Amino acid sequence: MALSGTRTESSGLRAFMNTRRGNAISIAAGILLVVVAVLILKKNIGPSDAVSISRDRMFVDAKTMKPFSYEIKAGDTFPVKAPSGDKTGYPAELCFWTKDGKIKNDPTAVLMNRFVGKSGPTFCPDCGRLVVGHNPAPAPGAKPPPTETEYHAQKGGGSRDERE
Ligand SMILES: [Zn+2]
Repeated sequence: MALSGTRTESSGLRAFMNTRRGNAISIAAGILLVVVAVLILKKNIGPSDAVSISRDRMFVDAKTMKPFSYEIKAGDTFPVKAPSGDKTGYPAELCFWTKDGKIKNDPTAVLMNRFVGKSGPTFCPDCGRLVVGHNPAPAPGAKPPPTETEYHAQKGGGSRDERE
């Protein structure tokens, strides 16, 4: 109180302006940062997140090997209850390939080996090609993933993969 009384009017005003404007600017900058961060997150994570959510709705019943759609609810644990009545529903990876290396629109839901305790890479039961986690949907002109034979030929017999 006593200090502000000793200041000249202009320096007091300047200090006041600086404080108010400084606060306003730092608040605005903070808000801007948050907005930019949210936009970046939406841009980078949004689409792939949406894709993975929609993909996660395809499950495979490990008992019958039949695909079914399932909406994941909060508190769900894997495996989820499958149409066969048992808790044998595992999230499926989608394979978009045909045996002759063409892209198909109606993907095959594939049960990954790692979910059912099997070792080694998973190959699509329909086209026999390699299926990986978060199997990407192919872009037009993309190279098809290797078949089981091609895969093992590339890896020189695949002794390393058999241990995995
Ligand atoms: Zn396939």
